[in-house]
Amino acid sequence: MTLSPVPDDDDLYELVVVRHGTRTGLRSEAYLSYATYGEPDGPQTTDYYLWVARNRSRTMLIDTGFAATPAARRGRTVLLPPATAYRELGVDVGAGHPVIITHAHWDHIGNLGLFPRSTFHIAQAELDFWTSEAASAPLLSHFAERDEVDRLVRLHRLGRVTTFVSRASPAPGIEVVAVGGHTPGQSMVTVNTLEGVVLLTSDVVHFTEELERRMPFISVTDLPGMYRGFGLVSELMSSGAVRRIVTGHDPCELDHLLRLTGPIGEHAGVIGALPGTPIRSNS
Ligand SMILES: [Zn+2]
Repeated sequence: MTLSPVPDDDDLYELVVVRHGTRTGLRSEAYLSYATYGEPDGPQTTDYYLWVARNRSRTMLIDTGFAATPAARRGRTVLLPPATAYRELGVDVGAGHPVIITHAHWDHIGNLGLFPRSTFHIAQAELDFWTSEAASAPLLSHFAERDEVDRLVRLHRLGRVTTFVSRASPAPGIEVVAVGGHTPGQSMVTVNTLEGVVLLTSDVVHFTEELERRMPFISVTDLPGMYRGFGLVSELMSSGAVRRIVTGHDPCELDHLLRLTGPIGEHAGVIGALPGTPIRSNS
């Protein structure tokens, strides 16, 4: 697709939210120590997303979704293969667009190999952790794919991975902030859009309920850090520093978004659509 010639500023983006996979499990599989709450168990849908921030000057990819093989092994349903999503969005995977990696779990770094010329931005703590002895413990390694982490390490050796300690601005209008909690370098991203600053929490917050009721996700490396992350997100919202948040896995994320035209619109919504972006008229 093409964007209109001018009205967007260099540091103002549209944020495309792509749902590429799904799984329905149990609440007790999603929330840590669920029995503590004394509530009945029930179904919990987890959706899988990748994100694209773009304007007429640049495209920034944020996470790359999961790969088909581990998804099948882990019983996830593929709604739209990420490679297809990028193609339908008009993202040229060979163009060297930078990629922010919010953390190195399998469902966020599954397709790095699609991007032969890209550089990748990740928190130093995340890279350090996954190359440490501790990461091989089963309760931690379960959430990563060895070959995908190895690819990340190889890319780092090749000089294609840029790390940051607490925060970085890989492009004007986009900031990535290391928060920790879910993983040691779990990061979230702010994107400046026509609808204000959007906070893409990634897995600092998986589900809206997780944030609202302070119910940590089942996979965590630093529990106090995870609670601090909730506090930080809430503070950013209540102070007005961010206009809205987009969580990492809530099945409702696309519900109120404008949908793109064409088949991709089934799986993709857009926040702060730039002039010229084709939007479904009935959305
Ligand atoms: Zn995730």
